[in-house]
Amino acid sequence: MATLERFCRYASINTQSDEEAKAYPSTPTQTEFNRLLQKELIEVGFQDVTLDEYGILTATVPATCEGVPVIAWLAHVDTSPEVSAVNIKPQVIANYQGQIITLPGDPAKKLDPEEFPELKTVIGHTLITTDGTTLLGSDCKSGLTAIVEAGEYLLKHPEIPHGEIRLCFSVDEEIGAGTLHLNPERIKADVAYTLDGGATGMIDCETFSADMATVTIEGVNTHPAHGKGHMVNALRIGADFVARMPKTTLTPETSDDRLGFLHPYSFEGSVAHTEIKIILRDFETAALGEYAQLLESIAQVLRAENPKATIKVEIKRQYRNMREGLAKDPRALEYAKEAMQSLGVEPKFTIIRGGTDGSGLTEMGLPTPNLSSGQHNIHSYYEWTSVEEMEETKDLLLAIAKVWAERSRA
Ligand SMILES: [Zn+2]
Repeated sequence: MATLERFCRYASINTQSDEEAKAYPSTPTQTEFNRLLQKELIEVGFQDVTLDEYGILTATVPATCEGVPVIAWLAHVDTSPEVSAVNIKPQVIANYQGQIITLPGDPAKKLDPEEFPELKTVIGHTLITTDGTTLLGSDCKSGLTAIVEAGEYLLKHPEIPHGEIRLCFSVDEEIGAGTLHLNPERIKADVAYTLDGGATGMIDCETFSADMATVTIEGVNTHPAHGKGHMVNALRIGADFVARMPKTTLTPETSDDRLGFLHPYSFEGSVAHTEIKIILRDFETAALGEYAQLLESIAQVLRAENPKATIKVEIKRQYRNMREGLAKDPRALEYAKEAMQSLGVEPKFTIIRGGTDGSGLTEMGLPTPNLSSGQHNIHSYYEWTSVEEMEETKDLLLAIAKVWAERSRA
């Protein structure tokens, strides 16, 4: 059970990232984890194993045949800051039979297939859960485990024809900084796959396009005793601004699937100065312009009503739907699909209501769809993964390497 042992070893190490930290990576444990992994990869025979100043680790499986584009497999080593990662004790359930699983560190917490129906799809699998007091970090260590296993397999089987494979283990993905110091030049591949998805059989080929708006309101503060005719309350104008935004549509509370939204998520201020942060999300990049226009039109009305206030709406570009970049090299998706089919799985092309490291990389010119890797209930005490699904992920990576070699040499 090499996969089980490997996953539990990786999962037991706390590599949580920290949104508040100023350093990069945000926590030293991520670099320490990659330093251990570096040693491991060198021992097994990976080439060019490089840990850089940002804590990012890359390694190479040399090509066994010529003329094949270089493929990269990516996973992030950090885990979500949302739930404790201190003293992770993975619980192993062999030959799962659909029963309710009690999490031993907090027996009030149970994994019930009625509540978590994905459990019904893994009868007979070896499952790994938390003990109920931490997350598991299956996001993204399930993917990471599958990548190392697949790489090792290719190193041990030089008779298998494949192009050069690059492994990349990034940091700080969970706090939105995964591609701050990671770029195509560092990865050195023609196409990449992140192994950061759910169960099995899914290829994420679209993400949101994303911008952020900051609304800044400058009011006029006076002592309240002398406010009449002088005071301009920026808080009140700010509240008015939010109240005039769409409420029954175009909000995260009312939309799903392909619907976008404008989401005020931070409101801070005083009478003199108020700032509202609003994220704009849609699968159609053009819609972001319309959302920005909508905010500007609210600002215009409020400017007319409050001539002594200054109201500014600034838009910052965040990331773009990877569909646009993936279209430039359709092979990234086609070959992944063909590889899945060769394993008897009909892939589902899925969309992510968020971004991935792949959205950033695809935008920078490296097509990077996201693949399933056996993660379930991520960022939670109820997180779990399956050894069989990690092994299927490994097989998928090998099949992708095979399809790229066959197609490129044909
Ligand atoms: Zn992840």
